[in-house]
Amino acid sequence: LPPRSVSVVLLCGGSGKRMGASIPKQYLELCGRPIVAWSLRLFAAMAEVRDVVVVCEPEYRDLISKHWGEACERAAAEDPAASVPELKWAPPGAERQDSVQSGLARIDPSTKLAAVHDSARPLTAAADVRRCLSDASDCGAAVLGVPVKPTIKEVNDDGTVARTLVRARLWEVQTPQVIEPALLRRGFAFATERNLEVTDDVSVVELLGETVRITQGSYTNIKVRI
Ligand code: C5P
Repeated sequence: LPPRSVSVVLLCGGSGKRMGASIPKQYLELCGRPIVAWSLRLFAAMAEVRDVVVVCEPEYRDLISKHWGEACERAAAEDPAASVPELKWAPPGAERQDSVQSGLARIDPSTKLAAVHDSARPLTAAADVRRCLSDASDCGAAVLGVPVKPTIKEVNDDGTVARTLVRARLWEVQTPQVIEPALLRRGFAFATERNLEVTDDVSVVELLGETVRITQGSYTNIKVRI
């Protein structure tokens, strides 16, 4: 992918989820820095990334700026000739999809792909992100995922088993979810018009009947959970 052609929407909103701590989980420390700082490091060092729109409550901007500065210094130490992505801010919304739309409104207008990433995933590998970007560039939308390992059953309201799903066809999706910005905007407009709630970003592309590719990622790309 050409340098500086991708926008990242980094989701840090939803301050209600606190894991029993006094701060939202993405600001808790992991190996000496806040969980979100590991994503800042990942994207600051990627030449494909033009801008990183951090969707967060205003009170966390100073903390994020500090770690963004460190991440950029680290990237510059590895490649002194390279520039770094631009850091931008957007306010979070009530639901995840509102936060995504808020971030989407701030991305560079000339960007080819928007990569939506959960700040609660600190272990995402650059090589996996690059394969997902390449798939989205071919197909319009791609998401990192891994084949599920457990057996999954669909359950009726009365607590009886409705069916056992065919495991070989089931994948757990992760982030980044990478989509052409125009396609993502069209999907959100469609979902909003019909009052549909979606929990992930490529779902709105599925609603439009467009193709979404799954890029096989890594089991280590976990989301820190409550
Ligand atoms: O709560 P959950 O872990 O599913 O959230 C996934 C991601 O969405 C997190 O990175 C969280 O910061 C983000 N989010 C958001 N705005 C919301 C709700 C969640 O940015 N209103």
